[in-house]
Amino acid sequence: MANVPEDKRREEGNHPDHAHKSLLKSDALYQYILETSVYPREPECMKELRLITANHPWNGMAAAADEVQFLGMLLKMLNAKNTMEIGVYTGYSLLAAALALPDDGKILAFDINRENYELGLPMFKKAGVAHKIDFREGPALPVLDQMVHDEKHKGSLDFVFVDADKENYLSYHRRVLELVRVGGVIGYDNTLWNGSVAAPPDAPLPDHVRRLRGHILELNKHLAADPRVEICHLSIADGLTLCRRLA
Ligand code: SAM
Ligand code: CA
Repeated sequence: MANVPEDKRREEGNHPDHAHKSLLKSDALYQYILETSVYPREPECMKELRLITANHPWNGMAAAADEVQFLGMLLKMLNAKNTMEIGVYTGYSLLAAALALPDDGKILAFDINRENYELGLPMFKKAGVAHKIDFREGPALPVLDQMVHDEKHKGSLDFVFVDADKENYLSYHRRVLELVRVGGVIGYDNTLWNGSVAAPPDAPLPDHVRRLRGHILELNKHLAADPRVEICHLSIADGLTLCRRLA
């Protein structure tokens, strides 16, 4: 191959850097996805909540529109009925999940901040899905600790979305893995952490990114070596790692 010209090799399907196959190289391409495939299909209540959230001072915390579209479809493919979300904020990802579940589906949702959840609550009511949500105000970990000691909760969940305090992701993993059924899926959000996971140690990074980077690096390493799950590290949004429980 070395003496075959590069355009000829490309024509034949050979990629000069075969380890890097991502096409998403520009903001314009991302905008194209949103405008072509995401926004035209976004339910009105989701759009309303997305726009309300965009005016909130912490709007950067909300999951991306293409990511929640993906999560909604994933829940349907899993035939999910009982799920959990750790880290709700105004409820944009939670609303997508609630819309994807059957009418008797349930989501146990945790956040230390009720005020932000209440910004989204009118949209849950309008969409007719508020009855699927059991919102618990407070830190998730102590409740998970109680749940893992109760046989009725073990293996009871089809899906868990973890999108809260990054320092605790590994602690969540240890507990949530017992609560999800075999074949069920856990999604960890922000596992590319602003791209910082691959940045050199001395790269200039915003304080909060630098402060939490070590936790995400540790999580990624742990998940890659955890034999109890099959994983898929998706480069959607800020990185989403799916873990499917094997046994
Ligand atoms: N999933 C949300 C969405 O897509 O719009 C975004 C969640 S935001 C990134 C993280 C949330 O985790 C914040 O609302 C924060 O209050 C919450 N949080 C932080 N520590 C927590 C804890 N220990 N237990 C539960 N929630 C927590
Ligand atoms: Ca997130």
